[in-house]
Amino acid sequence: MRKIPVACVSLNGNESKYVLDCLEGTWISSIGKYITLFEQEFAKFCGVKHAVATNNGTTALHLALVACGIGPGDEVLIPTVTYIATANAVRYCGAEPILADVVPETLNIDVSNLRHRITSKTKAIIAVHLYGHPVEMGPLLALAEEFGLIVIEDAAEAHGAEYLGRRVGSFGKCSSFSFFGNKILTTGEGGMVTTDDDDLAEKLRLFRGQGVDPKRRYWFEVVGYNYRMTNIQAAIGLAQIEQIDSFLTARQLLASRYDIALAHLSDALVLPQKSPWARQVYWMYTVYLRDGGEIERNKCMELLAERGIETRPVFYPMHVLPPYAQQSSFPTSDKWACRGINLPTHLLVSQQDVEYIADALKEALVAL
Ligand SMILES: *Cc1c(COP(=O)(O)O)cnc(C)c1O
Repeated sequence: MRKIPVACVSLNGNESKYVLDCLEGTWISSIGKYITLFEQEFAKFCGVKHAVATNNGTTALHLALVACGIGPGDEVLIPTVTYIATANAVRYCGAEPILADVVPETLNIDVSNLRHRITSKTKAIIAVHLYGHPVEMGPLLALAEEFGLIVIEDAAEAHGAEYLGRRVGSFGKCSSFSFFGNKILTTGEGGMVTTDDDDLAEKLRLFRGQGVDPKRRYWFEVVGYNYRMTNIQAAIGLAQIEQIDSFLTARQLLASRYDIALAHLSDALVLPQKSPWARQVYWMYTVYLRDGGEIERNKCMELLAERGIETRPVFYPMHVLPPYAQQSSFPTSDKWACRGINLPTHLLVSQQDVEYIADALKEALVAL
């Protein structure tokens, strides 16, 4: 039987060569040329001045919040549909994530429904570009400006996504990325914070390296963290960013193949939406059942698994998870998150695989 994983790492560029170079030169820790090179290339890719590499996407987000001065008593607006790291990073600062509902098309934060959640304690909004679809940044930036809020992008799932022709990671005061094994670009584990702000970049570097004074060894002015990336991770990252254009093109091609192969199922399935202002990079190709809920969705995923097709459910909204549970209702999140299925989205999914998956989905939908 065919086996199609939901995600797959692609290491066909200079990854081995650069990693071997680290090993042979013994630069395997968090000092070395690949860190600087990867940071420079990543900053260029996002169209910003600074990129600060970290050991994963969660620490990148935490570091971003710390450098922006988020602390105890502060409130930070986040979408309820996201990966839990977004909410956790806010809590690590002693601040409270304030959950907001999402828009149905992309499950990105619903900016038109945020105003009443802003209080005197609100300090920031985290814009999560879910599954590779950018948030509509115009209205979000306008709202943030009106209330003097800091905008931070969680771009962990959206390397290369664009809003009105401009790359994500360049809109916020700073932005975080993840390079976990299943992300669009990977270093195994890894993360990055991008910013145009010179002072903020300096703070990010300070807090990343235990808060040590760059001019005075073992002198610490603040409580910092060890969130450094290794030269080996950065070597993989540099090789990956060299291939980013082909990665994005391949994902785009796969998405259009799914669009075509699944079009005839659109009575039963909602396919990814296209916004004229967006370049969506399809970290995941997500479909939603028009009817039914979690039970039908899980059944559908089981039927696909029986045919060797690995899928993932859309994230549970934060408001149903024990650490962030609350009674408030988030109608759009409640309606759509439990119906979402992420289909295999990676460079090794062929046209034949797409047809096989479409076939299996059709049978599964009939059997529900
Ligand atoms: C993956 C992810 C993170 C965390 O990244 P890690 O590298 O796994 O720590 C944060 N936010 C979102 C939206 C993610 O998808």
